[in-house]
Amino acid sequence: MNTPFPINQVAVIGAGTMGRGIVISLANAGLSVLWLDCNAAALEAGLGMVSQAWAQQVDKQRITQAQADACLARVQAVDGYPALAEADLVIEAVYENLALKQEIFCALDAHLKPRAILASNTSALDIDAIAAVTQRPSQVLGLHFFSPAHVMKLLEIVRGTHTDQKVLDAAKALGERMGKVAIVAGNCPGFIGNRMLRSYVGEARKLLLEGALPHQVDAVLQQFGFAMGPFRMYDVVGIDLEWRARQLAGQGMHDPLVQVDNALCELGRLGQKTGQGYYRYAPGSRQAEHDPQVDALVLQVSQNLGYRRRGISAEEILERCLLALVNEGAKVLQEGIAASSGDIDQVWLHGYGFPAATGGPMRWADEQGAPFILARLEYLQGVLGEHWRPAGLLYSLVAGGKRFEPRGEVQA
Ligand code: NAD
Repeated sequence: MNTPFPINQVAVIGAGTMGRGIVISLANAGLSVLWLDCNAAALEAGLGMVSQAWAQQVDKQRITQAQADACLARVQAVDGYPALAEADLVIEAVYENLALKQEIFCALDAHLKPRAILASNTSALDIDAIAAVTQRPSQVLGLHFFSPAHVMKLLEIVRGTHTDQKVLDAAKALGERMGKVAIVAGNCPGFIGNRMLRSYVGEARKLLLEGALPHQVDAVLQQFGFAMGPFRMYDVVGIDLEWRARQLAGQGMHDPLVQVDNALCELGRLGQKTGQGYYRYAPGSRQAEHDPQVDALVLQVSQNLGYRRRGISAEEILERCLLALVNEGAKVLQEGIAASSGDIDQVWLHGYGFPAATGGPMRWADEQGAPFILARLEYLQGVLGEHWRPAGLLYSLVAGGKRFEPRGEVQA
């Protein structure tokens, strides 16, 4: 392809959950991959896991043995930055900590050729703050894969303030080559998907403190059509991921909304991987079972925080979770973090299991009608407080008799 940023040789930093899936996706797309982790045992385990993943594909007759061998041959473990000198693109997937990522980007900037693109798989950190430690901020961006990265279709391409359009184009072409749904997002905490997730999960967590129970919230959202409710999702991804990030950053530990998560993690209930989290799991099973001990813990935490619990209806649970999502989506749109409501819908359909039949959260909101959404948000604002203040965009949609624009104009 005629591009100033051809991508043939890729490097991946980090051989944990995400690094492994990213390596599989890249090698499946025919790219050769250099793989670095500061922990030799993690790298070896990573190589074992990717090799096993391809062997399983052969067993299921999805690929031939020759294809599996070719994929594995494309992956080369390396033991230091000098070995990455000729990489065209590096994707960093180490722990979610800004100082650590900045340290790594400094080293990458020093060792990689000037045309190389430097990408971070960060879930929510500031891409500009990462780019700022390099001499090439126009070649720094986010490539946010979803877990497991070789299965999930979504790739958020995060545009920093200085990211060159040609670098974004090269990233989009790479996403296409990997068979991903690649959506460009602006740089803000959590980008499109995780920023909206924060509002949605925040509401689900508030409902727990006010009187609902995890299995009740999940059941309502699953009934609506979500692949899984928010608390089952936390059990799958690991409740400890955010807990550890809070600890590493030394921030957010005392937020009332995360006190149930904190308590679960302190008990070693990290999710499916430990057999217990918001639910319990029989040995070797992924079947989430209701656990009355978790209900008791939720009650205890909310009482300690001074909440007077009340019964909460399924209608209230559904409305508050969905409207929190839509209101944040409208803010994401008005700020130009997403180029269109259609992009937001793609993110939520392909990255977060939003029910496909609805067309995505913004399309769902359009079906309800902007006047109805606005009226309900104003009602919730009156009853529950300022965090429900409707996005300005909703007022202009209602005034102009408009819907969200699925294709939209690219905003600056
Ligand atoms: P992980 O803990 O599974 O793996 C991190 C790996 O980084 C470990 O193998 C560790 O040895 C390695 N590492 C740490 N410091 C290093 C260094 N200085 N040099 C080289 N290697 C180093 O983490 P993960 O879940 O794969 O997450 C990685 C990144 O991806 C994070 O930024 C996370 O926010 C993001 N992310 C995670 C998920 C998820 O669901 N796990 C989803 C999307 C994005």
